[in-house]
Amino acid sequence: MNVEKALLEEADFIARQQRGRVSRLEADLQELLERKAQIEADLDNARRSAERRGTYVPVQGHQRFCPRCWIIDGKKGELRGVPSSTGDDIEKCQSCAREYPIPSRT
Ligand SMILES: [Zn+2]
Repeated sequence: MNVEKALLEEADFIARQQRGRVSRLEADLQELLERKAQIEADLDNARRSAERRGTYVPVQGHQRFCPRCWIIDGKKGELRGVPSSTGDDIEKCQSCAREYPIPSRT
C-alpha cells in the first residue's frame, strides 16, 4: 500500500468518526438548550413568586385559597376542611393536595 492511499484511508476513518461525533454533540447541545429554557422559565417563575406573595389573598368570602398554589403557580387552589384526628382543623387544597393544619383557638 502506498503512503498516499494509506493516509487517505485514515482520513476517511477520521472523517467517519467526526460525523458520528457531530451527531452526538448536536444531541447534547439540543438537550442543553432545552434544559436552559426550562431553567430560565423556572427562574422567571421563582422571581415572580416573590411578587405574588404580595397579592396572595387567603380568604375571600367563604372561600379559602392555598398559598402554595398562588405563590408557585399563580393559581387559586381552593381549600376545603377535612376531618382531623387532632383538635386542629385541616384545610386541604383541591389542586395540589397540600394540607394546612389550622391550630384551634384555645
Ligand atoms: Zn394548592
